[in-house]
Amino acid sequence: MRVLLVEDERKISTYVKRGLEEQGYAVDAAYTGREALDWASAVEFDLMILDILLPEIDGLTVCREIRKTGSRVPILMLTARDAIDDRVAGLDAGADDYLVKPFAMKELLARLRALSRRSNEAPKETLLQVADLTLDTLTQRVKRGGKFVKLASKEFSVLECLMREPERVLTRTQIAEHVWNYDVFNQSNVVDVYIRNLRRKIDDPFELKLIHTIRGSGYRISAEGENDEIT
Ligand code: CA
Repeated sequence: MRVLLVEDERKISTYVKRGLEEQGYAVDAAYTGREALDWASAVEFDLMILDILLPEIDGLTVCREIRKTGSRVPILMLTARDAIDDRVAGLDAGADDYLVKPFAMKELLARLRALSRRSNEAPKETLLQVADLTLDTLTQRVKRGGKFVKLASKEFSVLECLMREPERVLTRTQIAEHVWNYDVFNQSNVVDVYIRNLRRKIDDPFELKLIHTIRGSGYRISAEGENDEIT
């Protein structure tokens, strides 16, 4: 899940970015409304956290501008305590939810999970399954053949990305876009490295291989075997 965090207070931005990254989110930080609009026009984010009081262009205007482009990215507004008008204005501007400062990281994470579930037309399941492999997006636990598999947070994110769309071939770029922020995004082999680690953990001990390499395209997770693959 790739998140754009728009917050001009460096302390809060750093705290939130770290908290999200610990949960496996890929976070890009913008510090002004202008930067936020630049980011949003260049990258398709999965979620946006948007402070209302920002230099240059305020959060409400940013939100309206983003909605004008037709983007349906879920937006969580950050508002000052007791500023009820701000909350109403935020929702009117096209935000999906708001959170009052100061907030606990735990609450922010819960709101983001709820927003990402709502964002798809079909409700997102928290438990994803392919054959005997399951991934719980809520508890971040992965099991294969009934046994827990311990994954690093980015390994988890890559696997989640594949398991959200079983059978579909995802390119390295499509995977990377949802797992890494811009700083790491352009290191071309980063996806391959993580796929290799994932295979070692979830496929190597089992006869049925689930992660398939599609020559010249990318990767697919599927319980069906492939004849034309090179792994
Ligand atoms: Ca602010």
